[in-house]
Amino acid sequence: MSLVTLQNVSKVYPVGEQEVRALDGVDLSIEAGAFTVVLGPSGSGKSTALNLLGGMDTPTSGRIDAAGTDLTALDDRGLTAYRRDKVGFVFQHYNLVPNLTAAENVGLGSQFARDAVAPADALASVGLGGREQSFPAELSGGQMQRVAIARALAKRPPLLLCDEPTGALDSETGRSVITLLRSIADGSGTAVVVVTHNAEIARIADHVITLHDGSVREDRRNESPASPEEIDW
Ligand code: ADP
Ligand code: MG
Repeated sequence: MSLVTLQNVSKVYPVGEQEVRALDGVDLSIEAGAFTVVLGPSGSGKSTALNLLGGMDTPTSGRIDAAGTDLTALDDRGLTAYRRDKVGFVFQHYNLVPNLTAAENVGLGSQFARDAVAPADALASVGLGGREQSFPAELSGGQMQRVAIARALAKRPPLLLCDEPTGALDSETGRSVITLLRSIADGSGTAVVVVTHNAEIARIADHVITLHDGSVREDRRNESPASPEEIDW
């Protein structure tokens, strides 16, 4: 079942007198509960696509369908409600608030949610039980990314969007974060979308969408995805 689809979506940024066509007539679909990897070189439009899926940006043309609602027809309030209720975000550089504890950072992610997971439980679910009172500076990069994932998941979103979540991590730590993200898709019915330029990560995905110069170059399913331990980083 499709959770959110882009239909003939283009995104054009004006840059001075010129314009940059970041996405050009893109069709893609994110399925509920699946682990989807969006691949492509730098500048291919991955972050732009992710921001559109998450209601952080609006397209220049085309339609974005989220469970029957056209996001492009929503006003700012409608888009805010979509982001609040439906979408968790994870970024390459974690984006934690440095002077708040791990538990307080997680609480920030769910403060407007109706049915939030308690911060201690969210932290335990990403392997950080007992670290509620730690500040970001007291945690490793991998631990900070786990806090960011707990923050994104605490509001129980159906869609978790991750932009280069292992981009700042060494290979073993990156593998453990990808293992966690894969288990979230398998265990909770949350659709997980991981943007990366690392083609190896695509081997563990259910669905791989490859972008090139703002267009979909390939869209395929893995019938039997590799396990995270099998991939060469
Ligand atoms: P990726 O995440 O694959 O590296 P992006 O989606 O960030 O690619 O960018 C796609 C293209 O759009 C690039 O050429 C980039 O320079 C351009 N772009 C992205 N965001 C903006 C912006 N806010 N203003 C102007 N150009 C942008
Ligand atoms: Mg990017």
